[in-house]
This record gives sequence, structure tokens and C-alpha cells, in this order.
Amino acid sequence: MDTEKNNCPNCGAPIDIYSCKCQYCGTYYFNLSALNFDDGKPVFVRFTSNGFNMIALAVPHIGTVEVSSDYSTVSDVNCTMLKSILANRTCDVNVNFRCVANPESGELFRIVMPEEGGKYDARS
Ligand SMILES: [Zn+2]
Repeated sequence: MDTEKNNCPNCGAPIDIYSCKCQYCGTYYFNLSALNFDDGKPVFVRFTSNGFNMIALAVPHIGTVEVSSDYSTVSDVNCTMLKSILANRTCDVNVNFRCVANPESGELFRIVMPEEGGKYDARS
């Protein structure tokens, strides 16, 4: 078992998998370590589109990964740069979910009508 996946990303304390906030440092997290972007297996996702609450089976994909660094410079009175200091680094991971037809029902997605407690198919 990989214990690193079950620790707070900020302080390293063990996390409660049923919570989304570290009980030690207060960092909010949402553990997606069970989501595998490499095996091509679909997962259920819930989202809202055009005001409809929807559930679909979707295959997760890593889109682009963009690493960037911002530097601040220190200059003298003649505007000659003396030093460049790393100010901030970011890594943006763009994720896509491609909905696929549920092999058991044929549904591409399902619209959920929570206030009525019912559901209906939206085969497309
Ligand atoms: Zn923490």
C-alpha cells in the first residue's frame, strides 16, 4: 500500500478518507488517488450541464501539463539587472472526461431529477 497517497498534501499528517479537510493543519483536499488516468477504464462522474444534474460513465484523460515559472528581477539605479529570483512556480494539469455509453444500459448519460426523486434516460 502506498501510504504517501493517504497523507495531507500540506503537512503530511494521516488523512481521514471520509473527510476533505486535514484535522491538523486545516488544508482542504479531495483524494483522487483512486482515479487512474493510464488504464483507460471509465469512472462515474456527476456534473451539471444546461441546468440538468447528470451522471455519466467517462474515461479520464490527462490533457496538457503546463509548468511555468515567474521570476522577479533586482536592478541597480541604472536599470542593470543584478539578480533574477524565482518568485512562483505552477504546474497546471488539465483533465478531460470523455463520456462513453454504459455497456449495461446503452446510456451515454443519465439526467437526475432530484426534486422529483425520479430519473429518465437521455439516450443520445
Ligand atoms: Zn495537514
